[in-house]
Amino acid sequence: MSLLPHHRVHDVRALSAGWNTVARAAGLRRHLLARTDGFEVVWYESRGSGPACYLSAGVHGDEPAAAWGLLAWAQAHTDWLRERAAVIIPCLNPHGLSLNTRADGRGLDLNRRFHLEDDAVCGPWRRVAGSRVWRLALCLHEDYDGQGAYVYELGGHRGRMASAPLAAAARHVGIDPRRRIDHSQARDGIIRRRRMPTHLPGLPEAVVLHQLGCPLTLTFESPSEFGLDPRVQAQSDFIATALAEFSA
Ligand SMILES: [Zn+2]
Repeated sequence: MSLLPHHRVHDVRALSAGWNTVARAAGLRRHLLARTDGFEVVWYESRGSGPACYLSAGVHGDEPAAAWGLLAWAQAHTDWLRERAAVIIPCLNPHGLSLNTRADGRGLDLNRRFHLEDDAVCGPWRRVAGSRVWRLALCLHEDYDGQGAYVYELGGHRGRMASAPLAAAARHVGIDPRRRIDHSQARDGIIRRRRMPTHLPGLPEAVVLHQLGCPLTLTFESPSEFGLDPRVQAQSDFIATALAEFSA
């Protein structure tokens, strides 16, 4: 059985409609982060208290299983959302998702702009991210060079934290066997960041969350050349396992 009608994978309205339903069921508050290129970028906040879990997808519009996997997880976990502290950004680049492009409507890679206070999206994002105490962040992506699932782990845990959620995802898409992934050394699908990346022209979301005090940030990547349904399931199971391990 297909989880999604495939022609709707870049349908931003369908994604928003799904989140409206989840928000009603879980009592989430909806906030406007920014208006860009004719789209609203929204974020949701649960009513739980304490250090919050951060979940985001859709920074890159050509990585649709991340956004749909996050929604699939939320649809199956409204009880968790009702009780726990969480901030969720379902799609940071809706223009890109609508057109299947990595870049946003300005032609920019949003994930190199999270250090910028004056960016139309990352500026307001920094105010939200900087006003919380975080427990865990999951930044959800896909990689067209990916040969399976892999994770960047940031937070000084020696790569151990990522292994259970990665194993859950791997049931659907396997683990990327590469030893070097995008300038970094990988072991069994886990890239442990020992220091801040210096080869990038600007700072990604996960790094800025780390700078803002988030103790553990996992950036998950599913292989975007694989079938859609296993990728969506890999994303959803990665989230479920990471939250079960670290949000107790
Ligand atoms: Zn990405």
